[in-house]
Amino acid sequence: MQYTQSKALHKEAQQHIVGGVNSPSRAYKGVGGGTPVYMEQGEGAYFWDVDGNKYIDYLGAYGPIITGHAHPHITEAIQRAAENGVLYGTPTKLENIFAQKLKAAIPSLDKVRFVNSGTEAVMTTVRVARAYTGREKVIKFAGCYHGHFDTVLVQAGSGPSTLGNPDSAGVTKATAKEVITVPFNDIEAFKEALNHWGDQIAAVLVEPIVGNFGIVEPEEGFLQQVNDLTHDAGALVIYDEVITAFRFTYGSAQKLVGVEPDMTAMGKIIGGGLPIGAYGGKAEIMEQVAPLGPAYQAGTMAGNPASMSAGIACLEVLEEDGVYDKLDRLGAMLEKGMLKAAEKHGIDITVNRLKGALTLYFGSEKVINYAQAEATDGDKFGQFFKLMLKQGINLAPSKYEAWFLTIAHTEEDIQETIKCIDYAFGEMG
Ligand code: PMP
Repeated sequence: MQYTQSKALHKEAQQHIVGGVNSPSRAYKGVGGGTPVYMEQGEGAYFWDVDGNKYIDYLGAYGPIITGHAHPHITEAIQRAAENGVLYGTPTKLENIFAQKLKAAIPSLDKVRFVNSGTEAVMTTVRVARAYTGREKVIKFAGCYHGHFDTVLVQAGSGPSTLGNPDSAGVTKATAKEVITVPFNDIEAFKEALNHWGDQIAAVLVEPIVGNFGIVEPEEGFLQQVNDLTHDAGALVIYDEVITAFRFTYGSAQKLVGVEPDMTAMGKIIGGGLPIGAYGGKAEIMEQVAPLGPAYQAGTMAGNPASMSAGIACLEVLEEDGVYDKLDRLGAMLEKGMLKAAEKHGIDITVNRLKGALTLYFGSEKVINYAQAEATDGDKFGQFFKLMLKQGINLAPSKYEAWFLTIAHTEEDIQETIKCIDYAFGEMG
């Protein structure tokens, strides 16, 4: 494959845009660098880049794309919204329709608010939890990403008794001290953290099914215990469902795991590809938010008609019968193919999969927490990523990300992908 145009564009971009990209992971840092491919068109499961190369896409824009690119129903909704004027700054009927649709799918939401990104949604849930409890500290799980606001750019990494160090320059030490990080799936560490700081904790922030150090499911009973212990300590449970809402089932991961949080943050899929975030929860907690309560949150673009229209259309597609069964079937086929190819070429891999989302780790140990994901082989992943890209398979450029299937992928696409995996493993073996 030739990347002449991508290379030229990236050279130009670096003169004008920091690092040439508007989000750091797009710079291929996670795979040892290189020129990012500049995509120009997406349709269904496919991408075409500026040099005319075609790809099967598994990046799914880091999660939002589940219907495939340019799904006609969503495209039509966006076109209609554009014709009617994209931004009013007044309430619209669309917001009511969408709020009711979310509530019908996710029973723990009495009231919701629309914002513009996952970061904003999670950030606001933390503020509201602090307003409601009158406390300041937050517990999060190591390796979970919750957006780029200060409080969550902290990763303690070494167990429950360590207060966080900032993970980013510009985050104050005082902010880092508000956050306690414990390993996912480690209930003893969680209990220990609550024993130390229980009466200061406003909220426990959880990705109920982790998407940010690969797809990692909670162990049996873990989330129920987290809920019970958190409530015993007088704190709130916030589920960050920015990746998981509508990814594995129509509704949220809380439906799959059978545990309900006090508040939920969402984003990605619910915008049908346009910018969005949403948060919601129990009425008495949400009534802390302005104009009803003292916790302030606002947004010029919040609930804009274009994002509302795309989101409603996306959920209409996902409501159809068989959507999640199809994602599961294709995911199982891909997982089986990966494992078979790895065995054939003597490559140690572990695959974590839930329905149409999976992560291929280079390593033979089971991955149930961040330390185990960290221990998998990043150099091998980088090599694999590049071998796949040159065969026209677009993956997320990091060993910690998931492969996201869409309903536009076909069995033939999966077969083709498995052939490419077989070739890549052959080269690596
Ligand atoms: N929470 C989770 C679980 C995420 O995966 C992400 C983004 N990858 C965010 C929050 C932040 O969302 P956004 O990038 O839309 O701000």
